Amino acid sequence: MSSTMNEIHQNLKSFLQIVREFLKALVQKRTYSVSKNWYCFFGILWGIPIPIVTIGIDLYSTGLTPTISNIIRITTTHPLHFFFLLHPILFGIVFGAMGTVRYNKEQKIEEFEKNLIDKNTELERANKRLRELDRLKSNFLSMISHELRTPLTTIQGYITFLNTEKPGILNPNQKEYLKISEETADYLNHLIEELLDLSKIESGELKVNLASVDMTEVINKAVVSLQLFADEQGVTLENNLPKDLPIVLADKERILQVATNLIENAIKFNRTGGKVDINASIPDNGKLVFCVQDTGIGIPEDQLEKIFDKFYQVDSSRKRRYSGCGLGLAITKSILELHRGRIWVESRFGKSSRFFFELPIYKD
Ligand code: ADP
Repeated sequence: MSSTMNEIHQNLKSFLQIVREFLKALVQKRTYSVSKNWYCFFGILWGIPIPIVTIGIDLYSTGLTPTISNIIRITTTHPLHFFFLLHPILFGIVFGAMGTVRYNKEQKIEEFEKNLIDKNTELERANKRLRELDRLKSNFLSMISHELRTPLTTIQGYITFLNTEKPGILNPNQKEYLKISEETADYLNHLIEELLDLSKIESGELKVNLASVDMTEVINKAVVSLQLFADEQGVTLENNLPKDLPIVLADKERILQVATNLIENAIKFNRTGGKVDINASIPDNGKLVFCVQDTGIGIPEDQLEKIFDKFYQVDSSRKRRYSGCGLGLAITKSILELHRGRIWVESRFGKSSRFFFELPIYKD
């Protein structure tokens, strides 16, 4: 019932719109211009036979010859003929108005098309500029990372050299300061590596060398390298990988980077006394799924997808307690995509997080 009412309402609206356009056309000069508006001319031609036929029939029925005086006589005795005589003009006006309505429509469409073309050109120009800016940004990113790396390598070299105590024996304070410098330089190096990776991803230069990889070895290596960090944070690291895991098809160095990033995050976003557990399983689709589970701060549900965006951090305030620049997961995701693998996360905010990643099993 309501749909019928809607239909009636719509039809009435279109009808009123047509009437409005017709009335608007009646006051436009174009409606009455035979030279500009062929519809008007056509209307007049269409209307001419009407008085000819009606007066002709009258002449024929009264037996009069078709002379001018007879025509005037008949027209004055039957005033209805005046109305028929007006028909070429009336038809000219009605057809002329229809022509104007059509002309107005075409003008509107033309204007709309022109606007669309202008907007498209504008958009193309903006797109080109954006692509150019993007290229400049990638070049800048790559250049600045390389430029930062060179002096940093020198700094790290001197730290290592001082640690050997060849230039002189260090006192306990000096050793402590050197340790802090070493850690800071390592952290800076890590950030630069991430920036370089990002510039490679953006320029499509990040490549993987896929080969057979023993993930038990890779995860063990990541766990060993992060054990000290876990101890410092008061977090227990548990490697619960099942025995005899199948070999996967992966880039060993890049997949170590993935595992290290996920385990490091699980330790970093944890609490003293917390736990990190690393596990794996083989689901039906023949792929190997790894899970890094923690008892940390968790991630709000509405941000579970966003954390894989570059530079995204759940808490990006200046009072933020955790180090990092929000690139690790974006890089991890890109690396896994190059492996035709996936990464996803489940979390209970304030309680725990579980990061899963999937890798294809190696076939001979
Ligand atoms: P970074 O660690 O450098 O900030 P990432 O890309 O590795 O960058 O992580 C992005 C954000 O995702 C982090 O800043 C953090 O807010 C959230 N996050 C990642 N891993 C965890 C985790 N295990 N528990 C809670 N939050 C996490």
